[in-house]
Amino acid sequence: MVKVENIMTHLKCATHGRQKETFVCKHIIETMTDGEARGFCWGVNDKVHEAICDQCNNLSEADFSKQASDLIRPLCFGCFRQAAEFNGIILE
Ligand SMILES: [Zn+2]
Ligand SMILES: [Zn+2]
Repeated sequence: MVKVENIMTHLKCATHGRQKETFVCKHIIETMTDGEARGFCWGVNDKVHEAICDQCNNLSEADFSKQASDLIRPLCFGCFRQAAEFNGIILE
């Protein structure tokens, strides 16, 4: 019998404990520390939540992928929801 592996990765957050891993730009991490809204353009890519700020959303795709390794950081899903709330977005 074929077993479907759960490939979703988890990480351990100091605040939220074991959570699903999401990916956000580093400016959203800054929003987590200073509570300042920087925009929250989010989506779900292959069941993984991702979000970038307005500034990153305005970059061309080429520019973004050039800087992606510097820009993109993992974040726990609990923090992801909190960052969304700072921007007035309520996630389920
Ligand atoms: Zn950004
Ligand atoms: Zn967290």
